[in-house]
Amino acid sequence: MSPEPSSILLSPIEYLKGVGPLRADLLKKELNLFSFGDLLEHFPIRHLDRTKVFPIAQLNPSLDFVQVKGRLVHFELIGERRSKRLQAQLKDATGTIELTWFQGIQWVQKRLLVGDDYLVFGKLSFFMGKPQLVHPEIESLDQGHVAPKTGLEPVYPSTEKLKAKGLNGRALAKLTAVLIPQIHERDLPEFLPQSLVTALRLPSRFKAYRNIHFPATIQDYESALYRLKFEELFLAQMRMAMIKSNRHRFSKGVVFDQVGDLFNTFYKEHLPFELTGAQKRVIKEIRTDTAKGHQMNRLLQGDVGSGKTMVALLTMLLAADNGYQSCLMAPTEILAQQHFNSLSRMLEKMEVSIGLLTGSTKKAEREKLLSELANGTMQMIVGTHALIEEVVQFKNLGLAIVDEQHRFGVAQRAELKLKSAIPPHILVMTATPIPRTMAMTAYGDLDYSVMDELPPGRKPITTVHRYETARPSVMDFVRKEIAQGRQAYFIYPLIEESVKMDFEHLMKGYEEVKAFFPEPQYYISMVHGKQKAEMKETNMLRFKNHDTQIMVATTVIEVGVDVPNASVMVIESAERFGLSQLHQLRGRVGRGSAQSFCILLTGRNLTRDALERLKIMCATNDGFLIAEKDLEIRGPGDIEGTRQSGVLQFRLASIVQDKAILDVAAQQCQKLMEQDPELSSAENLQLKSYLLSRKGKTEWSRIA
Ligand code: ADP
Ligand code: MG
Repeated sequence: MSPEPSSILLSPIEYLKGVGPLRADLLKKELNLFSFGDLLEHFPIRHLDRTKVFPIAQLNPSLDFVQVKGRLVHFELIGERRSKRLQAQLKDATGTIELTWFQGIQWVQKRLLVGDDYLVFGKLSFFMGKPQLVHPEIESLDQGHVAPKTGLEPVYPSTEKLKAKGLNGRALAKLTAVLIPQIHERDLPEFLPQSLVTALRLPSRFKAYRNIHFPATIQDYESALYRLKFEELFLAQMRMAMIKSNRHRFSKGVVFDQVGDLFNTFYKEHLPFELTGAQKRVIKEIRTDTAKGHQMNRLLQGDVGSGKTMVALLTMLLAADNGYQSCLMAPTEILAQQHFNSLSRMLEKMEVSIGLLTGSTKKAEREKLLSELANGTMQMIVGTHALIEEVVQFKNLGLAIVDEQHRFGVAQRAELKLKSAIPPHILVMTATPIPRTMAMTAYGDLDYSVMDELPPGRKPITTVHRYETARPSVMDFVRKEIAQGRQAYFIYPLIEESVKMDFEHLMKGYEEVKAFFPEPQYYISMVHGKQKAEMKETNMLRFKNHDTQIMVATTVIEVGVDVPNASVMVIESAERFGLSQLHQLRGRVGRGSAQSFCILLTGRNLTRDALERLKIMCATNDGFLIAEKDLEIRGPGDIEGTRQSGVLQFRLASIVQDKAILDVAAQQCQKLMEQDPELSSAENLQLKSYLLSRKGKTEWSRIA
């Protein structure tokens, strides 16, 4: 929230009655509360319900703070000195509850009278099966004292330091109680279109802010919360939609308006297989998108093995036909090498130049490549991060493809954009499907293609979970597969913090596997992060060429590696992997027409989350479903690539728990963008100026 300069919301927090300089310092340090507005946005974590008075007999351990009403029937000082406590019994028609004080005993003693009626409020606990309230708030109902408190009392998040200084979650409520009456409608003007407010029956912003703190009823609180969550999710999506719409209308992009000889010749003569329907559809989407004169910025989601590489190749041919260079970036050397190999093989009989540039490209070769890129004789280049280094200059880069997107940051994609006067089209390909709900929030500024179809003839991978103790039978199974001419992977976990230990595990695993397969005709490859690129390459290649039957590897093998003859994967310590990672790994098998198997090996001690992950893996091969589950289990903060960007972190809303609100926000956003893409109608002007006044630099300059 950034209010008008004159607004009371900008007043420094120390000016609020009850704060002052000392507390202000603490509030700033501990909770980042600098102004009245910040305090207004410090939302309660819950409310204590003081509308309700519980019959004592109904109290149970699931309740937290409770209010009871009854007569004081007994009153007694127990213990000596330090262990002294005051104990009272309060009785209503249904039962008796114990009230206990360890401190301020004299003060309480003076005020309580046996035989009087009281309203008592406090945190419920049970001692030896009996309900009790320690240090409750207590008010007399007899002597015409203060009127009993009713309503919903907010409790705020606080910190240990603040609590030590008397500012606990409930004390903060005293401050908001001072603040709220000073805030007026004009401080929180409405910016949502009136028709939307009406259609969704949202309370006004002003009302929502007031009621989220001090609601009269639970319903008031809930509609305030709904409104504020909706607002967050809607604004986030509107920002993305505006970026997209601006790009569609105003960006300049190179024009790929002809499908020429290269594309056609390849398509007619060298295509190694019939394209899947999904591949055809996506190619068409890309062709339409790149012909318009605006910059394409597209996210291609395709499950593992859906054939994204072919889409990349055809798009690169399209670029070449229109006289432009293109590049394909991969996250690792192995992958870059593999892409280069398979693309050059497919392009063997074509008149087109393609090169490979990685960190380990030799100096002479490198210089040759750089000059060919600069003078335009090199039409296509495959590589790693090395491609976006400053020394790499293109003559006319028209297309940049990024494979396995989440390993590249936004900043790196921005670098790519700078490689050319007119920004190149960008195609981001990812095999870790992002749940739909998340995609439209985090990547709503990108156009979106999905490949939800696998090439024909694939059999779903059979996945099972086995305990360590079953290792001998697992090994027997692998042996049978190998005897039938298949190949197998053994995958070991890799956690950065303990590289050394992981390495030892891997070596031990290698010895173990070797012991199980002593036959002289069986060979084992090993690939891990500590090897030099060349070594990795050689070992990969030996496996790919079927010179070895078994691949023992860490997760470096994870992405994109393509050996269709491999039909078994054994994942060791499978409980240590996340869902998406397991899915990625598993995608290394099931690439040929043979039935494939994935065996998840674990110890006996499993957490509930780990068991849940294993269960999901055994139940489905659908990457999109797995991504949804992953989101549910881990939350958006842990999904790769979204952590740093923070795009999915909201103050109130959660894209997992508030999926229903997110969907409504998405519908409304879409409707609005269809009706008034420039937000120029009178009703939408306030929304537009709100969005413009708050556009974050990063958000609006984001390219992907
Ligand atoms: P991913 O989408 O995971 O990157 P790849 O592009 O590596 O998938 O393709 C996986 C495998 O499927 C490769 O061996 C590729 O040659 C093959 N493939 C791709 N498209 C088709 C198709 N339309 N028909 C048959 N096989 C295909
Ligand atoms: Mg791939």
